[in-house]
Amino acid sequence: MLRPTARLLLPFLALAAACQPAADKTPAVAGTTINADVVPAEAIAAIDTATLMNNIRVLAADSLMGRQPGSAGEDKTVAYLEGQFKAMGLKPGNTDGTYIQKVPLVGITVKNAPTLTFAKGATTKQLKWRTDYVAWTKHVAPSASLDKSELVFVGYGTEAPEYKWDDYKGVDVAGKTLVMLVNDPPLADTTQFGGNRMTYYGRWTYKYEQGMKHKAAGVLLVHQTERAGYPFAVVQGKTAEQFDLVTPDKNMSRASVEGWISLDQAKALFTMAGQNFDSLQAKAATPAFTPVPLGVTASVKLDNTLRTIDSRNVVAKLEGSDAALKDEYVVYTAHWDHFGVGEKVNGDSIYNGAADNASGTAGLLAMAKAYVAMKTPPKRSILFLSVTAEEQGLLGSQYYAVTPIYPLAKTVANINMDVLDTWGPTSDLTVIGLGNSELDDYASAAAAEQKRTLRPDAEPEKGFYYRSDHFNFAKQGVPAFDPEPGITFIGKPADYGKQKRDEYTAKDYHQPQDEIKPTWDMTGAVQDLDLFLTMGYRVANASKFPEWRAGNEFRAAREKQLKP
Ligand SMILES: [Zn+2]
Repeated sequence: MLRPTARLLLPFLALAAACQPAADKTPAVAGTTINADVVPAEAIAAIDTATLMNNIRVLAADSLMGRQPGSAGEDKTVAYLEGQFKAMGLKPGNTDGTYIQKVPLVGITVKNAPTLTFAKGATTKQLKWRTDYVAWTKHVAPSASLDKSELVFVGYGTEAPEYKWDDYKGVDVAGKTLVMLVNDPPLADTTQFGGNRMTYYGRWTYKYEQGMKHKAAGVLLVHQTERAGYPFAVVQGKTAEQFDLVTPDKNMSRASVEGWISLDQAKALFTMAGQNFDSLQAKAATPAFTPVPLGVTASVKLDNTLRTIDSRNVVAKLEGSDAALKDEYVVYTAHWDHFGVGEKVNGDSIYNGAADNASGTAGLLAMAKAYVAMKTPPKRSILFLSVTAEEQGLLGSQYYAVTPIYPLAKTVANINMDVLDTWGPTSDLTVIGLGNSELDDYASAAAAEQKRTLRPDAEPEKGFYYRSDHFNFAKQGVPAFDPEPGITFIGKPADYGKQKRDEYTAKDYHQPQDEIKPTWDMTGAVQDLDLFLTMGYRVANASKFPEWRAGNEFRAAREKQLKP
């Protein structure tokens, strides 16, 4: 693989839009100054495909049983990561002298596979567990139920003042069960709701948060593959144990029952209510929409098995070399967890999570190895944070972001690694949320030195910026970078990248089949890791903190955070 040699540039790079390679879509802000220090060659040399594959093999092995939080698989994974950091000579990342940040979680499993009953007068309809619907409760209690709870269709369930959008129109839906559509309303006016990019209003997590806000008894989302961005099989995975952070109110302020119904069942429900799903869905995509009582009730009782565990974030630190700046941090993150042992698919029940996210975790170890190899560390300190329970709702990173070991006001940037490129070298890198912050300028400069370009998210409608651990840093205001593999593969047909992505989403994503493939080629991942190393190194040496772009949804939180 060609290592970038054109690193004879000046330490500081004044960004003149003209020097950007034509294909680069980064909305560079002329005059932005970023650091352009040359990364020590010994660090670049420390990143190699063999070590990367070795770590992936260990983490994705059946013996780690799919790395479920709270399992023996967690113990083995955490021990391995801690052992690797220690062997590299990295310092414990927690101020208590350990490499561990405990993350108190509660695990809730619905044990009775209950039937959900819709009733209208004497007419009833039974929905089969897992086949027709899935549900869970976040209530830390032995059971949760809906008892003849009135169903109300609330469209997208969104309140977005900046778009003058309110799906509730002041209607009181407390104690009711809300039937909601996922994603954002598909509007012709692309200035609304981010155009074809999913906004946070479109995320399923936002929908359940709305249920809580409106004191609903239940929330049932209608699953539509295109709109959700993944097949119903992924939703069915939520019938396994669900974790949540332990909260003071034991999550009693959330709706009792949260879940999804299949599209077919939703259509049947609307027919039962004397309504038409398609026409109401169309109405929901208009600002005039008002909630529609369906005249049907829902009843279900979830019996739970509860357990509380201390899962673990693993954290190591490389102390900065500048006395004045070493109490400022660049944080690399990658989640170590996956789905453990679950429903059998094609005879396999171990969810190895080789790409998701043994690859990213191996990437984190590669970053650590590279920084340790430097004769002189960068000025600021570097944290290597492998978080738990990402698959359970970004819980490990949420816990860190809410109870940080190091002040977030001193946290300069986050670079997240969730699924590395396993399909070979590319001439581009995908940046989820391209345009969000000045970190793009660092990425763009480093990519240019590799004769590569940045590319925006190929599927902005899927809301990927809200779907991994960097989002919790961003929510708190820390500029957070979320890269994904490029889509233009060198020496491959133009549609190769899309074809591989679609294959992965359909066959491997959150399935036991996410295993190491003999065809894997990690040279592309090494190229990307070089870029992430260059970004972090330069940000750690930079004279100023990278910022969110003007008007970005996270900028206000940062300004508040940095206020003296
Ligand atoms: Zn992941």
